[in-house]
Amino acid sequence: MAKCAMRKMRRKGLASMAVQTVATAKNVDLGPAAALSCRECGERFPLGPIFACELCFGPLEIAYDLPAGDPEALRKQIEAGPANIWRYAPLLPVPADVADKPNLNPGWTKLVQADNLARELGVEPGKLFVKDDSGNPTHSFKDRVVAQALEAARAFGFTTLSCSSTGNLAGAVGAAAARAGFRSCVFIPHDLEQGKVVMAAVYGGDLVGIEGTYDDVNRFCSELIGDPLGEGWGFVNVNLRPYYAEGSKTLAYEICEQLGWRLPDQLVIPIASGSQLTKIDKGLQELIKLGLVEDKPYKIFGAQAEGCSPVSAAFKAGHDVVRPQKPNTIAKSLAIGNPADGPYVLDIARRTGGVVEDVDDERIVDAIKLLARTEGIFAETAGGVTVGVTRKLIEAGLLDPALTTVVLNTGDGLKTLDAVAPTTGPTATIRPSLDAFRDAGLA
Ligand SMILES: *Cc1c(COP(=O)(O)O)cnc(C)c1O
Repeated sequence: MAKCAMRKMRRKGLASMAVQTVATAKNVDLGPAAALSCRECGERFPLGPIFACELCFGPLEIAYDLPAGDPEALRKQIEAGPANIWRYAPLLPVPADVADKPNLNPGWTKLVQADNLARELGVEPGKLFVKDDSGNPTHSFKDRVVAQALEAARAFGFTTLSCSSTGNLAGAVGAAAARAGFRSCVFIPHDLEQGKVVMAAVYGGDLVGIEGTYDDVNRFCSELIGDPLGEGWGFVNVNLRPYYAEGSKTLAYEICEQLGWRLPDQLVIPIASGSQLTKIDKGLQELIKLGLVEDKPYKIFGAQAEGCSPVSAAFKAGHDVVRPQKPNTIAKSLAIGNPADGPYVLDIARRTGGVVEDVDDERIVDAIKLLARTEGIFAETAGGVTVGVTRKLIEAGLLDPALTTVVLNTGDGLKTLDAVAPTTGPTATIRPSLDAFRDAGLA
């Protein structure tokens, strides 16, 4: 009881602002999305740009009228769809004709069978996979969530797209807005990696650096939503958050379809706010309910950087409440010290028999290099976190190397060059002569 009350208190500030800005959105067409429902008390609300329950201040999520009937027919329909997230439109809060609208069509990224990495980690060959989301249009998984938020923004009549971002989201919003003809104005902590800043700015929208941490940026955006200054703005991860979050379900759908409509046994997922992890679980549960995969147990493992590990700290301490931290890690895309979905992540890890673990910055860099060296995949720091945590969990006997395991790489190493640059470079620098090359001892 006390814990629940604390959670609600924490959310109260945001919720009261959300209530003020409720726009009634009648007749919006968001496909199978039927209503918003409170994740705490279950109360339902009509679809609109709101994100907190008016009764208990709990966060809202999408409730669906999912297609009932023959799973085989639905599977065929999906398989005949486009090679992007819209093949799953019948399961997403988007109109049926979404594929015809201008957007970046993210998704259907590679699921790489990582036998070389498996060998290094002591996993059975054929059992380890990397879901490589660096292949999305702006080189991170964020294109998936932004694509859903864009449809909600269209449906609710917003003309400006905005967000608070740890870096990747700002770029994804800028690009999606450019393609769809929206104005964008995005907010980031002022001290991000150059690759992230350039990516966020190059699409021509407005980019604002805030002197503070991501949590300061997020608080600022919440204030902006409640102010006339932010009127008409769709903040993809604040007032459009219920729609945005659903984009992560497509990772679950793709992984299962790419495994031949099978559930993996174990998934290793990075945690920033925790939204992605909770929605991958939601996606897997839907596939089971729809009869698209067989109903069997799976374990979800959460991965954080030691320098920002509020969820893994709570997991290890056996707490239900996540105590905020001040981030200090090279994994800046995951540096959310006060993760909104933290308590739900704890629930899912415990329910499925998984673990939430963290790795230090040195192991993150080692893991980035290990993945690059074994599989030719250059991950950003978040990918170093998941690979590093996978290795740590196997060493500790907490992840079973005999079972099918999917490790997520959610971003591209070219955006976080600073993390590996100090320990990576030419093997030798020589004069252009055979003698010099012979002396270098590389032939
Ligand atoms: C945003 C992000 C995540 C996870 O975000 P959640 O807030 O937990 O949904 C993971 N990896 C990368 C690279 C990201 O940018």
